Amino acid sequence: MRAAGEMSAMAGAGDVLKRIDETRTWQEQLYRHLHAHPELSSHEVRTAAEIARRLREWGYEVQHIGGGVVGVLANGNGRTVLMRADIDALPVTELTGLPYASTVTAVDESGAAVGVAHACGHDVHITCLLGAAALLSGARQAWSGTFIALFQPAEETAAGARAMLADGLTSRIPRPDVAFGQHVLNHEAGVLGWQAGPVLSAGDSIRITLSGRGSHGSMPHLGVDPVVLAASVVLRLQTIVAREVEPGEFAVVTVGSSVAGTKSNIIADHAVLLVNVRTYDAEIRERVIASIERIVRAECEASGSPEPPAFEYYDQFPLTDNDPTVTARVAAAFREYFGEDRVVELGRITASEDFSRVPDAFGIPYSYWGVGGFTRDQQAYPNHSPHFAPAIHPTLDAGTEAIVVATLAYLGEDAS
Ligand code: ZN
Ligand code: ZN
Repeated sequence: MRAAGEMSAMAGAGDVLKRIDETRTWQEQLYRHLHAHPELSSHEVRTAAEIARRLREWGYEVQHIGGGVVGVLANGNGRTVLMRADIDALPVTELTGLPYASTVTAVDESGAAVGVAHACGHDVHITCLLGAAALLSGARQAWSGTFIALFQPAEETAAGARAMLADGLTSRIPRPDVAFGQHVLNHEAGVLGWQAGPVLSAGDSIRITLSGRGSHGSMPHLGVDPVVLAASVVLRLQTIVAREVEPGEFAVVTVGSSVAGTKSNIIADHAVLLVNVRTYDAEIRERVIASIERIVRAECEASGSPEPPAFEYYDQFPLTDNDPTVTARVAAAFREYFGEDRVVELGRITASEDFSRVPDAFGIPYSYWGVGGFTRDQQAYPNHSPHFAPAIHPTLDAGTEAIVVATLAYLGEDAS
Protein backbone atom coordinates (compact mmCIF):
# COMPACT_ATOMS: atom_id res chain seq x y z
CA MET A 1 0.00 0.00 0.00
CA ARG A 2 1.14 3.52 -0.73
CA ALA A 3 0.19 6.60 1.20
CA ALA A 4 -1.97 9.04 -0.75
CA GLY A 5 0.74 11.70 -0.42
CA GLU A 6 3.32 9.53 -2.18
CA MET A 7 0.86 8.85 -5.00
CA SER A 8 0.42 12.59 -5.57
CA ALA A 9 4.15 13.27 -5.35
CA MET A 10 4.73 10.67 -8.06
CA ALA A 11 1.90 12.05 -10.17
CA GLY A 12 3.64 15.44 -9.86
CA ALA A 13 6.99 14.02 -11.00
CA GLY A 14 5.20 12.39 -13.94
CA ASP A 15 3.65 15.76 -14.88
CA VAL A 16 7.00 17.51 -14.76
CA LEU A 17 8.82 14.76 -16.66
CA LYS A 18 6.22 14.49 -19.42
CA ARG A 19 8.20 17.07 -21.37
CA ILE A 20 11.62 15.41 -21.07
CA ASP A 21 11.36 14.60 -24.80
CA GLU A 22 11.68 18.35 -25.41
CA THR A 23 14.71 18.90 -23.15
CA ARG A 24 16.51 15.75 -24.33
CA THR A 25 17.55 17.26 -27.67
CA TRP A 26 19.16 20.39 -26.27
CA GLN A 27 20.56 18.47 -23.29
CA GLU A 28 22.45 16.14 -25.62
CA GLN A 29 23.83 19.09 -27.63
CA LEU A 30 24.78 20.94 -24.46
CA TYR A 31 26.47 17.84 -23.03
CA ARG A 32 28.61 17.40 -26.14
CA HIS A 33 29.50 21.10 -26.07
CA LEU A 34 30.48 21.05 -22.37
CA HIS A 35 32.45 17.84 -22.86
CA ALA A 36 34.45 19.38 -25.70
CA HIS A 37 35.04 22.64 -23.77
CA PRO A 38 36.13 21.66 -20.24
CA GLU A 39 37.59 24.19 -17.80
CA LEU A 40 39.94 23.46 -14.89
CA SER A 41 38.96 23.94 -11.22
CA SER A 42 38.47 27.62 -10.27
CA HIS A 43 38.59 28.62 -13.96
CA GLU A 44 35.01 27.70 -14.97
CA VAL A 45 34.25 31.09 -16.52
CA ARG A 46 32.54 30.16 -19.79
CA THR A 47 30.79 27.20 -18.18
CA ALA A 48 29.33 29.44 -15.45
CA ALA A 49 28.22 32.07 -17.99
CA GLU A 50 26.42 29.43 -20.07
CA ILE A 51 24.65 28.06 -16.98
CA ALA A 52 23.59 31.54 -15.81
CA ARG A 53 22.26 32.50 -19.25
CA ARG A 54 20.02 29.43 -19.43
CA LEU A 55 18.73 29.72 -15.86
CA ARG A 56 17.70 33.36 -16.48
CA GLU A 57 15.79 32.28 -19.59
CA TRP A 58 13.69 29.94 -17.45
CA GLY A 59 12.81 32.60 -14.88
CA TYR A 60 15.37 31.78 -12.20
CA GLU A 61 16.81 34.53 -10.02
CA VAL A 62 20.51 34.06 -10.76
CA GLN A 63 23.58 35.02 -8.72
CA HIS A 64 27.28 34.41 -9.32
CA ILE A 65 28.68 33.35 -5.93
CA GLY A 66 32.29 32.37 -5.27
CA GLY A 67 32.92 31.29 -8.86
CA GLY A 68 29.71 29.26 -8.96
CA VAL A 69 26.17 30.02 -10.10
CA VAL A 70 22.98 29.72 -8.07
CA GLY A 71 19.49 29.90 -9.56
CA VAL A 72 16.48 30.27 -7.27
CA LEU A 73 12.95 29.53 -8.49
CA ALA A 74 10.31 30.55 -5.93
CA ASN A 75 7.00 28.89 -6.71
CA GLY A 76 4.57 29.46 -3.89
CA ASN A 77 4.34 28.01 -0.40
CA GLY A 78 6.19 24.92 0.65
CA ARG A 79 9.64 23.66 1.38
CA THR A 80 12.93 24.68 -0.19
CA VAL A 81 15.07 22.07 -1.96
CA LEU A 82 18.68 22.65 -3.04
CA MET A 83 20.26 20.49 -5.76
CA ARG A 84 23.99 20.81 -6.36
CA ALA A 85 26.03 20.02 -9.47
CA ASP A 86 29.81 20.43 -9.63
CA ILE A 87 31.12 21.96 -12.87
CA ASP A 88 34.94 21.66 -13.04
CA ALA A 89 37.11 19.41 -15.23
CA LEU A 90 40.42 17.63 -14.60
CA PRO A 91 44.00 18.03 -15.85
CA VAL A 92 43.71 14.82 -17.89
CA THR A 93 44.44 14.30 -21.59
CA GLU A 94 41.31 12.65 -22.96
CA LEU A 95 41.81 9.30 -24.74
CA THR A 96 38.19 8.33 -25.35
CA GLY A 97 38.31 8.84 -29.13
CA LEU A 98 34.76 10.25 -28.99
CA PRO A 99 33.77 12.65 -31.79
CA TYR A 100 33.16 15.27 -29.07
CA ALA A 101 36.36 14.49 -27.12
CA SER A 102 38.20 17.43 -25.57
CA THR A 103 41.38 18.70 -27.24
CA VAL A 104 41.68 21.56 -24.75
CA THR A 105 45.01 22.24 -23.07
CA ALA A 106 45.82 24.63 -20.26
CA VAL A 107 48.70 25.63 -17.99
CA ASP A 108 48.30 24.28 -14.47
CA GLU A 109 49.40 25.96 -11.22
CA SER A 110 52.92 24.54 -11.50
CA GLY A 111 53.27 26.09 -14.98
CA ALA A 112 53.08 22.76 -16.83
CA ALA A 113 50.99 22.32 -19.99
CA VAL A 114 48.20 19.80 -19.34
CA GLY A 115 45.28 18.35 -21.25
CA VAL A 116 41.87 19.21 -19.81
CA ALA A 117 38.93 16.80 -19.80
CA HIS A 118 35.63 16.13 -18.08
CA ALA A 119 37.07 12.81 -16.89
CA CYS A 120 34.93 12.84 -13.74
CA GLY A 121 31.62 13.41 -15.55
CA HIS A 122 30.79 16.82 -14.09
CA ASP A 123 29.48 17.73 -17.56
CA VAL A 124 26.78 15.08 -16.93
CA HIS A 125 25.94 16.75 -13.61
CA ILE A 126 25.61 20.22 -15.20
CA THR A 127 23.44 18.93 -18.04
CA CYS A 128 21.12 16.94 -15.77
CA LEU A 129 20.62 19.81 -13.31
CA LEU A 130 19.93 22.27 -16.13
CA GLY A 131 17.45 19.82 -17.64
CA ALA A 132 15.68 19.39 -14.30
CA ALA A 133 15.71 23.19 -13.76
CA ALA A 134 14.04 23.71 -17.14
CA LEU A 135 11.45 20.98 -16.52
CA LEU A 136 10.55 22.30 -13.07
CA SER A 137 10.23 25.82 -14.45
CA GLY A 138 8.01 24.61 -17.29
CA ALA A 139 5.58 22.71 -15.03
CA ARG A 140 5.09 25.04 -12.05
CA GLN A 141 1.48 23.93 -11.61
CA ALA A 142 2.76 20.46 -10.62
CA TRP A 143 4.69 21.54 -7.51
CA SER A 144 4.91 24.19 -4.82
CA GLY A 145 7.85 25.62 -2.85
CA THR A 146 11.31 26.87 -3.82
CA PHE A 147 13.85 25.07 -5.98
CA ILE A 148 17.52 26.08 -5.81
CA ALA A 149 19.91 24.90 -8.53
CA LEU A 150 23.47 25.32 -7.25
CA PHE A 151 26.40 24.92 -9.65
CA GLN A 152 29.64 24.58 -7.70
CA PRO A 153 33.15 25.21 -9.05
CA ALA A 154 36.41 23.50 -8.04
CA GLU A 155 35.17 20.26 -6.51
CA GLU A 156 38.30 18.41 -7.60
CA THR A 157 40.54 20.71 -5.55
CA ALA A 158 38.19 20.82 -2.54
CA ALA A 159 38.13 24.62 -2.91
CA GLY A 160 34.77 25.34 -4.57
CA ALA A 161 32.24 24.83 -1.77
CA ARG A 162 34.47 26.82 0.58
CA ALA A 163 34.77 29.62 -2.00
CA MET A 164 30.97 29.86 -2.33
CA LEU A 165 30.54 29.91 1.45
CA ALA A 166 33.27 32.53 1.83
CA ASP A 167 31.39 34.69 -0.71
CA GLY A 168 28.32 34.73 1.53
CA LEU A 169 26.28 31.85 0.09
CA THR A 170 24.29 31.18 3.27
CA SER A 171 23.05 34.79 3.53
CA ARG A 172 22.42 35.26 -0.21
CA ILE A 173 19.96 32.42 -0.89
CA PRO A 174 16.93 31.08 1.01
CA ARG A 175 17.76 28.47 3.66
CA PRO A 176 16.97 25.06 2.14
CA ASP A 177 15.17 22.35 4.12
CA VAL A 178 17.10 19.61 2.36
CA ALA A 179 20.02 19.35 -0.11
CA PHE A 180 20.80 16.81 -2.82
CA GLY A 181 23.84 15.94 -4.89
CA GLN A 182 24.57 13.21 -7.42
CA HIS A 183 27.57 11.69 -9.20
CA VAL A 184 27.85 9.70 -12.40
CA LEU A 185 29.76 6.48 -11.67
CA ASN A 186 31.04 3.47 -13.59
CA HIS A 187 28.14 1.15 -12.81
CA GLU A 188 25.30 0.31 -15.16
CA ALA A 189 23.78 3.23 -17.05
CA GLY A 190 20.36 4.31 -15.88
CA VAL A 191 20.70 2.63 -12.47
CA LEU A 192 20.41 4.83 -9.36
CA GLY A 193 22.37 4.02 -6.19
CA TRP A 194 21.38 5.24 -2.72
CA GLN A 195 23.30 4.86 0.56
CA ALA A 196 22.23 5.83 4.06
CA GLY A 197 24.94 7.16 6.40
CA PRO A 198 28.55 7.62 5.26
CA VAL A 199 28.78 7.25 1.46
CA LEU A 200 32.03 9.03 0.60
CA SER A 201 35.08 9.18 2.84
CA ALA A 202 36.67 12.20 4.42
CA GLY A 203 39.99 12.87 2.69
CA ASP A 204 43.03 14.65 4.11
CA SER A 205 46.38 15.29 2.49
CA ILE A 206 49.40 16.12 4.66
CA ARG A 207 52.78 17.41 3.53
CA ILE A 208 55.32 16.38 6.19
CA THR A 209 58.78 17.92 6.18
CA LEU A 210 61.42 15.97 8.14
CA SER A 211 64.61 17.75 9.13
CA GLY A 212 68.00 16.10 8.87
CA ARG A 213 71.53 17.48 8.86
CA GLY A 214 73.37 17.40 5.54
CA SER A 215 76.76 15.75 5.28
CA HIS A 216 79.14 13.95 2.91
CA GLY A 217 77.85 10.49 2.03
CA SER A 218 81.13 9.03 3.32
CA MET A 219 80.74 10.76 6.71
CA PRO A 220 77.29 9.76 8.00
CA HIS A 221 78.39 10.25 11.61
CA LEU A 222 78.56 14.04 11.00
CA GLY A 223 74.95 14.30 9.79
CA VAL A 224 71.39 13.20 10.51
CA ASP A 225 70.19 11.18 7.52
CA PRO A 226 66.60 12.17 6.58
CA VAL A 227 66.37 9.25 4.12
CA VAL A 228 66.72 6.70 6.92
CA LEU A 229 64.38 8.79 9.07
CA ALA A 230 61.77 8.94 6.26
CA ALA A 231 62.07 5.17 5.73
CA SER A 232 61.34 4.54 9.43
CA VAL A 233 58.39 6.92 9.34
CA VAL A 234 56.91 5.29 6.22
CA LEU A 235 57.09 1.81 7.75
CA ARG A 236 55.86 2.88 11.17
CA LEU A 237 52.85 4.74 9.67
CA GLN A 238 51.63 1.39 8.33
CA THR A 239 50.98 0.28 11.91
CA ILE A 240 48.24 2.87 12.44
CA VAL A 241 45.61 1.00 10.41
CA ALA A 242 47.05 -2.42 11.29
CA ARG A 243 47.49 -1.89 15.06
CA GLU A 244 45.56 1.18 16.22
CA VAL A 245 42.28 1.23 14.27
CA GLU A 246 39.73 -1.28 15.54
CA PRO A 247 39.41 -4.30 13.24
CA GLY A 248 36.32 -3.83 11.07
CA GLU A 249 36.57 -0.04 11.16
CA PHE A 250 37.70 1.74 8.01
CA ALA A 251 40.77 3.92 7.53
CA VAL A 252 43.39 4.32 4.81
CA VAL A 253 46.85 5.83 5.36
CA THR A 254 48.86 6.06 2.16
CA VAL A 255 52.30 7.61 1.71
CA GLY A 256 51.96 8.71 -1.90
CA SER A 257 55.32 10.45 -2.22
CA SER A 258 58.67 10.36 -0.43
CA VAL A 259 61.35 12.70 -1.72
CA ALA A 260 64.83 13.44 -0.38
CA GLY A 261 68.32 14.04 -1.69
CA THR A 262 69.98 14.47 -5.08
CA LYS A 263 73.12 12.29 -5.27
CA SER A 264 74.43 9.04 -3.85
CA ASN A 265 77.29 10.67 -1.98
CA ILE A 266 75.36 13.49 -0.33
CA ILE A 267 73.31 13.12 2.83
CA ALA A 268 70.37 15.47 2.35
CA ASP A 269 69.22 17.98 4.92
CA HIS A 270 65.49 17.24 4.69
CA ALA A 271 62.86 14.84 3.33
CA VAL A 272 59.26 15.49 2.32
CA LEU A 273 56.46 12.92 2.61
CA LEU A 274 52.98 13.35 1.10
CA VAL A 275 50.45 11.36 3.10
CA ASN A 276 46.79 10.72 2.26
CA VAL A 277 44.17 9.73 4.86
CA ARG A 278 40.62 8.43 4.21
CA THR A 279 38.05 7.80 6.93
CA TYR A 280 34.26 7.43 7.38
CA ASP A 281 34.12 8.52 11.00
CA ALA A 282 35.09 11.88 12.50
CA GLU A 283 36.50 10.35 15.68
CA ILE A 284 38.62 7.80 13.80
CA ARG A 285 39.84 10.59 11.52
CA GLU A 286 41.04 12.63 14.48
CA ARG A 287 42.72 9.62 16.07
CA VAL A 288 44.49 8.62 12.83
CA ILE A 289 45.78 12.15 12.26
CA ALA A 290 46.92 12.39 15.89
CA SER A 291 48.72 9.04 15.50
CA ILE A 292 50.50 10.25 12.35
CA GLU A 293 51.77 13.35 14.15
CA ARG A 294 52.79 11.35 17.23
CA ILE A 295 54.73 8.76 15.21
CA VAL A 296 56.46 11.36 13.05
CA ARG A 297 57.52 13.45 16.07
CA ALA A 298 58.77 10.36 17.90
CA GLU A 299 60.76 9.09 14.90
CA CYS A 300 62.33 12.55 14.50
CA GLU A 301 63.25 12.46 18.17
CA ALA A 302 64.67 8.94 17.77
CA SER A 303 66.83 10.07 14.84
CA GLY A 304 68.15 13.17 16.61
CA SER A 305 66.47 15.42 14.04
CA PRO A 306 67.68 19.03 14.55
CA GLU A 307 64.23 20.63 13.98
CA PRO A 308 60.73 19.40 14.82
CA PRO A 309 58.79 18.10 11.80
CA ALA A 310 56.42 20.44 9.93
CA PHE A 311 52.87 19.35 9.06
CA GLU A 312 50.96 21.14 6.31
CA TYR A 313 47.35 20.05 5.70
CA TYR A 314 45.89 20.55 2.21
CA ASP A 315 43.18 19.17 -0.14
CA GLN A 316 40.90 18.41 2.79
CA PHE A 317 37.53 16.87 1.94
CA PRO A 318 34.77 16.48 4.54
CA LEU A 319 32.85 13.27 5.16
CA THR A 320 29.71 12.79 3.03
CA ASP A 321 27.25 11.33 5.54
CA ASN A 322 23.75 10.86 4.08
CA ASP A 323 20.80 11.54 6.37
CA PRO A 324 18.98 8.18 6.78
CA THR A 325 15.45 9.67 6.78
CA VAL A 326 16.01 11.83 3.69
CA THR A 327 17.77 8.95 1.93
CA ALA A 328 14.91 6.53 2.69
CA ARG A 329 12.41 9.00 1.26
CA VAL A 330 14.47 9.61 -1.89
CA ALA A 331 15.14 5.88 -2.39
CA ALA A 332 11.39 5.11 -2.03
CA ALA A 333 10.56 7.79 -4.62
CA PHE A 334 13.26 6.37 -6.95
CA ARG A 335 11.88 2.84 -6.61
CA GLU A 336 8.38 4.02 -7.33
CA TYR A 337 9.40 6.00 -10.42
CA PHE A 338 12.21 3.88 -11.89
CA GLY A 339 11.13 0.43 -10.66
CA GLU A 340 12.92 -1.84 -8.15
CA ASP A 341 15.48 -3.21 -10.61
CA ARG A 342 16.88 0.23 -11.45
CA VAL A 343 17.50 1.25 -7.83
CA VAL A 344 20.31 -0.36 -5.80
CA GLU A 345 22.08 0.15 -2.51
CA LEU A 346 25.30 1.86 -3.59
CA GLY A 347 27.67 0.82 -0.81
CA ARG A 348 30.39 3.08 0.54
CA ILE A 349 32.89 4.63 -1.83
CA THR A 350 36.41 5.53 -0.70
CA ALA A 351 36.52 8.65 -2.91
CA SER A 352 35.79 12.08 -1.41
CA GLU A 353 33.70 15.18 -2.19
CA ASP A 354 33.25 18.70 -0.84
CA PHE A 355 29.45 18.64 -1.44
CA SER A 356 28.59 18.33 2.27
CA ARG A 357 30.18 21.67 3.19
CA VAL A 358 27.12 23.56 1.89
CA PRO A 359 24.38 21.59 3.73
CA ASP A 360 26.62 21.48 6.82
CA ALA A 361 26.94 25.29 6.70
CA PHE A 362 23.14 25.58 6.65
CA GLY A 363 22.78 22.80 9.25
CA ILE A 364 20.39 20.83 7.02
CA PRO A 365 20.13 17.11 6.13
CA TYR A 366 21.18 15.85 2.72
CA SER A 367 21.38 12.85 0.46
CA TYR A 368 23.95 12.20 -2.26
CA TRP A 369 23.29 9.43 -4.77
CA GLY A 370 25.05 7.71 -7.65
CA VAL A 371 23.95 7.45 -11.29
CA GLY A 372 25.35 4.64 -13.43
CA GLY A 373 26.91 5.83 -16.68
CA PHE A 374 27.99 2.78 -18.68
CA THR A 375 25.83 0.47 -20.81
CA ARG A 376 26.43 -3.30 -20.74
CA ASP A 377 28.12 -3.34 -24.15
CA GLN A 378 30.56 -0.62 -23.14
CA GLN A 379 33.82 -0.92 -21.20
CA ALA A 380 33.24 0.82 -17.84
CA TYR A 381 36.24 2.93 -16.87
CA PRO A 382 36.55 4.52 -13.42
CA ASN A 383 36.14 8.26 -12.87
CA HIS A 384 39.37 10.21 -13.61
CA SER A 385 40.48 7.67 -16.23
CA PRO A 386 41.46 9.31 -19.56
CA HIS A 387 39.01 6.79 -21.10
CA PHE A 388 36.06 7.83 -18.89
CA ALA A 389 33.16 8.19 -21.37
CA PRO A 390 29.66 7.74 -19.98
CA ALA A 391 26.90 6.78 -22.41
CA ILE A 392 24.74 9.82 -23.23
CA HIS A 393 21.65 7.58 -23.23
CA PRO A 394 20.19 6.66 -20.83
CA THR A 395 22.54 8.45 -18.41
CA LEU A 396 21.34 12.02 -19.03
CA ASP A 397 17.68 11.02 -18.75
CA ALA A 398 18.27 9.05 -15.53
CA GLY A 399 20.24 11.88 -13.89
CA THR A 400 17.62 14.45 -14.90
CA GLU A 401 14.70 12.30 -13.79
CA ALA A 402 16.41 11.50 -10.47
CA ILE A 403 16.64 15.21 -9.61
CA VAL A 404 12.98 15.85 -10.44
CA VAL A 405 11.79 12.74 -8.58
CA ALA A 406 13.81 13.54 -5.42
CA THR A 407 12.73 17.19 -5.53
CA LEU A 408 9.06 16.35 -5.99
CA ALA A 409 9.27 13.96 -3.02
CA TYR A 410 9.60 17.24 -1.03
CA LEU A 411 7.86 19.82 -3.22
CA GLY A 412 5.15 17.75 -4.92
CA GLU A 413 1.51 18.34 -4.10
CA ASP A 414 0.67 16.83 -0.74
CA ALA A 415 4.31 15.83 -0.09
CA SER A 416 4.28 15.75 3.68
ZN1 ZN B 1 36.59 13.62 -9.56
ZN1 ZN C 1 33.59 14.15 -9.57
